[in-house]
Amino acid sequence: MFVGHYGVSFAAKRVAPTIPLWALFVAVQLLDVFWAPFVLVGIEKVRIVPGITASNPFDLYYMPYTHSLLAALLWSAGTLLLYRLLATRGPVGKAALVVALAVFSHWILDFLVHRPDLPLYDNTAKVGLGLWNVPALAFALEAGLLFGGMWLYFGTGLVPRLRMVLFGLVRLAIQAYVFFGPPPASDKAAAWTALASYAVFAAVVARLERPDRAARQRVNAL
Ligand SMILES: [Zn+2]
Repeated sequence: MFVGHYGVSFAAKRVAPTIPLWALFVAVQLLDVFWAPFVLVGIEKVRIVPGITASNPFDLYYMPYTHSLLAALLWSAGTLLLYRLLATRGPVGKAALVVALAVFSHWILDFLVHRPDLPLYDNTAKVGLGLWNVPALAFALEAGLLFGGMWLYFGTGLVPRLRMVLFGLVRLAIQAYVFFGPPPASDKAAAWTALASYAVFAAVVARLERPDRAARQRVNAL
């Protein structure tokens, strides 16, 4: 899964508004944020096999450190501890739990779409419901999650709705390209693209959230 993960970020923001959206954007993709450099240095492995699923060519045959169920639980627990240590704003305990659940949600959503390439532990007992083989349904799920989560987020009040929707549509267009466009040139190219996308998306949402905060302060000052 790609852009659908961000639906969880928006829903989490509704539950715990003190967490910056950019942090939630990183959290929901954290397993991939580590997957990409791991692929680049050869710790984890992927090969491009056109046709292996109906919507993308990724043969994710070795990723025990980021995408096994056990690893996902450990990354989530690590995030919980780190957030408790570093966060200062608002009710830290609840926010830490929300961020940790956001990290873990990545595995659950990947489980829906991946072919059985997600190990339960190490590189074995692999699972995945394979929705990627029904591209229209997988794409609808990504879009539904993204905009469903965004709709929940809009309920938090002062939000730059139009810009958020436009940003969502841009991400959905990139998703469509991944699904229906040509395959990436190589495994490393796929990893670089993923990493760059996650960094840019987090930076853009940090920028989009800023005027929202300024508006809130103006309202508070009245
Ligand atoms: Zn993933």
